[in-house]
Amino acid sequence: MSRAPLSDPEALRIEAQRAAAPLAEQLPAEPLREAARRIAGEVTDPEIPVLTIADLGVLRDVRVEAGGVEVEITPTYSGCPAMNMIALEIELALSKAGIAPVTVRTVLSPAWTTDWMTEDGRRKLRDYGIAPPAKAAGRRALFGKDEVACPQCGSTDTAEIAAFGSTSCKSLWRCNTCREPFDYFKCH
Ligand SMILES: [Zn+2]
Repeated sequence: MSRAPLSDPEALRIEAQRAAAPLAEQLPAEPLREAARRIAGEVTDPEIPVLTIADLGVLRDVRVEAGGVEVEITPTYSGCPAMNMIALEIELALSKAGIAPVTVRTVLSPAWTTDWMTEDGRRKLRDYGIAPPAKAAGRRALFGKDEVACPQCGSTDTAEIAAFGSTSCKSLWRCNTCREPFDYFKCH
């Protein structure tokens, strides 16, 4: 199946509209909401493709309105260019499943924090070789310092090498036990 290039939002939107089938008219509100939430939640983060927006906690709410489905998302890092892409991907995924029209709203308050990331998401990050963000409770115990466990060997004898890693939401660390460098998904 051919797809519009991700760099062309307008083409994506047109494709989404064309793909829409009337599933939204066949299902009662609650099953429709559940289906829409599951499908929207499977959209992945463009920067960390192993994480879905459900894993990240970016997907806030899905509502069935008289005129269609409304999806609320909260951006991870402010000004993250990935968010426009995520909104389009949600619209496309739902339309392909026959759920349309879709409105994606960006909710800025309360602000997203890494504590919203699910346990499943943390495990996926670790498996991917990225240390998941420390939780708020652990951070407080260390007076604002993150305790970062090496995703390779689990050692907490680790040190930050660079404040910015492969993307701005990650920093580069090194494990003093296994000597391997790794990315850390920074707390926020
Ligand atoms: Zn290690």
